[in-house]
Amino acid sequence: MTGIVYKSTGSWYTVKTELGVVYDCRIKGKFRLQGIKSTNPIAVGDVVGFDVETLDNVTTGVIHTIHDRENYIVRKSVNLSKQTHIIASNIDQVFLLITINNPPTLTSFIDRFLVTTQAYGIKTVLVFNKMDTYEEDNVMEVKYLESVYRKIGYECIEVSAVTGQNIDQLKRLMLNKTSMFAGHSGVGKSTLVNAIEPNLDLKTKEISMQHMQGQHTTTFAEMYDLSFDAKIIDTPGIKGFGVVDMDKEEIGDYFPEFFALKQECKFNNCLHVEEPKCAVKDALDRDEISFSRYRSYLQILEGDDEHYRTEEWMK
Ligand code: GDP
Ligand code: ZN
Repeated sequence: MTGIVYKSTGSWYTVKTELGVVYDCRIKGKFRLQGIKSTNPIAVGDVVGFDVETLDNVTTGVIHTIHDRENYIVRKSVNLSKQTHIIASNIDQVFLLITINNPPTLTSFIDRFLVTTQAYGIKTVLVFNKMDTYEEDNVMEVKYLESVYRKIGYECIEVSAVTGQNIDQLKRLMLNKTSMFAGHSGVGKSTLVNAIEPNLDLKTKEISMQHMQGQHTTTFAEMYDLSFDAKIIDTPGIKGFGVVDMDKEEIGDYFPEFFALKQECKFNNCLHVEEPKCAVKDALDRDEISFSRYRSYLQILEGDDEHYRTEEWMK
């Protein structure tokens, strides 16, 4: 049998087949030794192969294979073992919620987020929320940001979780896909998900895990089927998304507009800072690259992480 992992509680996995049948599954003993080095061998979103067993009239599954992951997001464990925990896999898209006010979302935050999802290989759509609250100057700012990000290939959408503006369009983007919602605390993630699917009761609190003593008592991601052929992955209480380790030379590759020009730089390991004949800096001088994007790049390059330390990036 083949199915998708919807939920994981450490040793048991909720797996749903294409026909919609749900099985509680464990992992075959030997299987634990395989896979990438992480505290969890299997994560929400994984496509797994499993056998069904019936014992004393109770049917459970035993997972024996895991299909290759399209992508996955990780969290570094807090302990010194430096092991990673896979939060979720096979994510089609992340909706990054942005608000101009209450709270303000800085471009440095947006760009850092985009570098991370670009590195993870996950498509990101920028969702400007709370459009109902904006005065003309705020709307101008939204339009400006949209022009910056559309130019470099990111889809943008303006919504209001409160008035319902463009929620249908957002739902169309979610159709037949697995999505996640991200953004600062207070940008409206819960309100928006509620506008999309009113009866979905997402867990926004930490789950108490009595049977998990001695292990990490963190929260787990969970996948939900929505009523209109879409899936969302909810990651309650997860703090931090920007945990990709990358070399300095790599960072520019995750700025699509820099990456497109890289071949034209004189040096193939050009960091686009001090080097002569740098195609990125030339484009910046010609205003073809946005200054705020370049500034964000320099901040990331310098490891200036203060701007990006966030709580509750994901929901
Ligand atoms: P979260 O922390 O990202 O989940 O944010 P919430 O969904 O809890 O929303 C934070 C606050 O913003 C709540 O008071 C919401 O009612 C409000 N809010 C969310 N979306 C909108 C919107 O589109 N328009 C307005 N006016 N308020 C919104
Ligand atoms: Zn360069």
